[in-house]
Amino acid sequence: VGTVSVLIILLAGCGAREHDPAADPMLKAVLWQQAAGESRALQHQAYRLARMRLDDLLAEGRFVRKPAVVVDIDETVLDNSPYQARLIRTGTHYPEGWAEWCARAEAEPVPGALDFLSYCRKKGVVVFYVSNRRESTREGTVKNLADHQFPFADNPHVLLRGENTTKEMYRQKIHETHEILLLIGDNLNDFSAHFYEKPAGSRNSAVDSLAREFGNRFILLPNPMYGDWEGAVLNYYWNRSREELDQTLLNALTDY
Ligand SMILES: [Mg+2]
Repeated sequence: VGTVSVLIILLAGCGAREHDPAADPMLKAVLWQQAAGESRALQHQAYRLARMRLDDLLAEGRFVRKPAVVVDIDETVLDNSPYQARLIRTGTHYPEGWAEWCARAEAEPVPGALDFLSYCRKKGVVVFYVSNRRESTREGTVKNLADHQFPFADNPHVLLRGENTTKEMYRQKIHETHEILLLIGDNLNDFSAHFYEKPAGSRNSAVDSLAREFGNRFILLPNPMYGDWEGAVLNYYWNRSREELDQTLLNALTDY
């Protein structure tokens, strides 16, 4: 009995602290994205603005190539907050369970997205989905989009991350044959390579210098759950313990 007790105490001591979902640092961000009317209103607002801009640009008609819009997928046209909620519930972290979530093809459309993209098709504007989802998720991703009747939800228009591809490469490729009227996303990297792997400060300066593009050619959606903003704060140094990551995030706060 003694040996067993000691063993149990040792195991309890060595094991990770018990996960408390209510104390998870992600709780409020995910809840906001999922449950706040404000998040929903911002999504509608973004797509309403996109439609106004599209109408203006089509009326100006200053393009010779076929008009197109480029949209990101995650947190732009598909809502993955149930996946994020599951991470909180189970105390796990991306990418655990991500491939399975994509394969389920169960993500709901982001409010406003389906209406806007259907409007694009009606106006003769091609939609390209440019996503950092991996090629291995293609089947579930295309199915998820097609099940909700998203326009152009087919292999030629759904461009996913391969071994040596970047969103910028896809944007340039599309630009060869199409006039990209609008770029829509929840991550600065959805708009321009200017933001790629920049530290948080330079990222913010780049936003200021490109300020006139936001609400113009760039349409941004809210996502406090994850994104390259977090990598930027961490200097893209993810390979450390969860405690160290959380401490680095805390240290990055500006106090008075
Ligand atoms: Mg996204």
